[in-house]
Amino acid sequence: MATEKTDVVIVGVGAAGGILAAELGKAGMKVIGLERGPRLTTQDFDPHDELRYFQRQDLRPNIKRQPITWRPNANASATAIPVQNYGNQAGGGTVHYGAVSWRLHEDDFRARSHTIARYGAPAIPEHSSLADWPLSSADLEPYYDRAEYELGVSGRAGNLQGKKIDGGNVFEAPRRRDYPLPPLRLDQGAILFEAATRKLGYHPFSTPRAILSEPYNDRPACTYCGFCQAFGCHVGAKSSILITKLPEADATGNFKLITGAMCHSVNSDNSGRVTGVGYYGPDGSNNTIEAELVILTTFIYDNTRLLLLSKSDTFPNGLANSSGQVGKHLMAHMMPNVYAVFDDRHVNNYMGPSAQKHTIDDFNADNFDHKDLGFIRGAQISAGPAGLEGGPIASAMNMPPPPGVPRWGAGSRTCLTPTRRSTSILMCATPGGCRRRA
Ligand SMILES: Cc1cc2nc3c(=O)[nH]c(=O)nc-3n(C[C@H](O)[C@H](O)[C@H](O)COP(=O)(O)OP(=O)(O)OC[C@H]3O[C@@H](n4cnc5c(N)ncnc54)[C@H](O)[C@@H]3O)c2cc1C
Ligand code: SF4
Repeated sequence: MATEKTDVVIVGVGAAGGILAAELGKAGMKVIGLERGPRLTTQDFDPHDELRYFQRQDLRPNIKRQPITWRPNANASATAIPVQNYGNQAGGGTVHYGAVSWRLHEDDFRARSHTIARYGAPAIPEHSSLADWPLSSADLEPYYDRAEYELGVSGRAGNLQGKKIDGGNVFEAPRRRDYPLPPLRLDQGAILFEAATRKLGYHPFSTPRAILSEPYNDRPACTYCGFCQAFGCHVGAKSSILITKLPEADATGNFKLITGAMCHSVNSDNSGRVTGVGYYGPDGSNNTIEAELVILTTFIYDNTRLLLLSKSDTFPNGLANSSGQVGKHLMAHMMPNVYAVFDDRHVNNYMGPSAQKHTIDDFNADNFDHKDLGFIRGAQISAGPAGLEGGPIASAMNMPPPPGVPRWGAGSRTCLTPTRRSTSILMCATPGGCRRRA
């Protein structure tokens, strides 16, 4: 058993932990990062290993060895969540994510008050913890801007200091300058989506992505290889924390990363002050790090687990849980997808980054009628006030095709707030269904 001392220990070196490691290291603090997974390199993703990364989901947590359970309320039996959408290696989820790079909309910061204003107070369930943010979009704008430029995000501005620009998202909050990189090239799905939605009066725009459309910061541009989500990038064009912020943290000389380190507890003293963490090393040893500052960035499930596991006489219900709220009101990663099948064309959905799509933000599910859209069949549109899973859901999955419309469809990935009706359409390649690594 070893004990080390440091200024800061960061538990979980993913998206949040990696950024903090770089920033705190630059500020002169000695930082130790504990990461349960390995630190992979760009070379590990070349050649593309579909069996390892796509079929066996090697970059995600192993749910057989470490299941995470969920129950809708205290009276229900907990069941294991079947797929874990987060990281299991240095860089966390950003290594294998889709790299869609949103800023929140202005009304997202007022989710509670805006929902009440639009739908009335009964729209929010009695026990919902939905709250407005204590910040506004304008407060965060400088930080969004900095993140986009430091990481490398491709897109087109739609609202430059109040000036609306066609081709960008005209519904976005004002931004000080354009993205550092132009949008990625259009793929077949985006071309169809752009044309169809424009025809219907919508305002399509290129989905912003943390993927380099051009060389940037000594990294090459995307090759449109298609092995993107679920894979790490074999050329380093995906702006993951693994290849952006972790090298910055290394360069400070103040950062030490311990991989294969599974944190099991946050330690505290009798005064209630946190003193460090306990972790199992790769050799199974049980070790301690004493630190002035403990930062938990293990994503929502493990943050919850660690807080609840860290019981003491002072904190009998776990740390930061005097309210009994830890582990409740969680919201994670939702990925509702619908795929479309075209009888008369090949869309080749397998080509290019999975996030190489177009989006509309003025989609209004209240007025949605698949016959109006015509080109949509088999779409599942879920709409609800922000933060309310299970808001009004209209599933058009089994609707018959509109008269005269062949076996077409479109996939709708929705992320809807009362005024933000966005849908990314994913389109499938061939008659007979999506063959993308089926
Ligand atoms: C397949 C996929 C696609 C996605 N697509 C997008 C997208 O297009 N756009 C977008 O914005 N977001 C996307 N996301 C979500 C995004 O990746 C996450 O929101 C983000 O990575 C969360 O950051 P985090 O720091 O909270 O957690 P993570 O980045 O997951 O980092 C948590 C880290 O903690 C480590 N850890 C956990 N428990 C312990 C422990 N006990 N001890 C030590 N280490 C531990 C994990 O191994 C991991 O490295 C996607 C995620 C996935 C998985
Ligand atoms: S599609 Fe582009 S960003 Fe994605 S893995 Fe391939 S080269 Fe990298």
